[in-house]
Amino acid sequence: MYQPGMKSNNLLGLSCQELVELAESLSEKPFRGKQLYHQIYRRRISDFDAMTNLSKAFRTRLQDEYTITYPDVFKRTASADGTTKFLFRLEDGSFVESVYIPEESRDTLCISSQVGCDVGCTFCMTAQMGFQRNLRPGEILGQVLQIVRSGLAQPQGFNIVFMGMGEPLYNYQNLMKAFRILTDPEGIDISYRKITVSTSGIVPVLKKLAQEPKPPNLAISLNATTNEVRDRVMPVNRKWPLEELLQACREFPLDSRRRITMEYVLLKEENDSIEDARRLAGLLRGISVKVNLIPYNPNPGLSHRRPEEERIQRFRSILQELNVPHFIRKTRGDDVSAACGQLAYLEKSPSLATEPVLHTP
Ligand code: SF4
Repeated sequence: MYQPGMKSNNLLGLSCQELVELAESLSEKPFRGKQLYHQIYRRRISDFDAMTNLSKAFRTRLQDEYTITYPDVFKRTASADGTTKFLFRLEDGSFVESVYIPEESRDTLCISSQVGCDVGCTFCMTAQMGFQRNLRPGEILGQVLQIVRSGLAQPQGFNIVFMGMGEPLYNYQNLMKAFRILTDPEGIDISYRKITVSTSGIVPVLKKLAQEPKPPNLAISLNATTNEVRDRVMPVNRKWPLEELLQACREFPLDSRRRITMEYVLLKEENDSIEDARRLAGLLRGISVKVNLIPYNPNPGLSHRRPEEERIQRFRSILQELNVPHFIRKTRGDDVSAACGQLAYLEKSPSLATEPVLHTP
């Protein structure tokens, strides 16, 4: 809840109720707070002077005491296929990244939820950074609004996936506050059906998400078919093993049109065998899913390898035979390091920038 005199004077990220309280604290009528909310999120105006439906006195007061500050676009790089990577610098100097991916049917924005991540997946560049901090609601929303302001996309024209840096369910409160503003018809007004939260499998928080009146779509970063392998590549599995995770997926509310996306990064001789494909089909029986197969692209800093094309196709054909809905993720934006954590990591470790940079999930 907004407290007059609170440390940050940046209004980006405040809810409608908090802006109403702010207006009241400045001796304005409550509806002025609603107008301010509309100007910030619906009209995406960051200059108080341009909010001409507010009184001059209110605007001057806001101008003197508050800001609407977006994350700074530190670097914007477009790939030959149109994929555009944004490296944002936050107010405290931290870096996070977002990716705009144009697609035939609908564009996708991949958004970060934390600076770094402490889940420690062995195939992920962000894990190399360790955890620095959770993003605030305004920093989550700011990524979306900056990309919209860049002219690449309109809010009703894209999907949002929380698959950038960080484990979104470890930043639940801020994630959901941003989600409510994103989906509020009076706010940014994006359908909750167009937003997907991807998790490594934080089971207790996943159960909480399932209780939300309108939960986002769910993606699970699965990546293994036995606890032995998953413990190794995703240490989070030692806390919440496959059985618990899949049970939580079974209980996740899905309407008839929705499926859970199971992300499966194919790692050579780790999780890409014929037995793995069969076990995967067995594990997912009874859950409404689509499997997103992601052939790993090796990174000089990480030890995993990419399976040969033949192994990838063999894995895929077994899923096909066993009637498991699946697709292979197309590699996008190779030339702009368009994978989770790459640019931010390079910004932190510039010596690596001279090495070939390839995809990590
Ligand atoms: S894959 Fe996701 S959860 Fe795992 S370390 Fe990377 S950012 Fe964190």
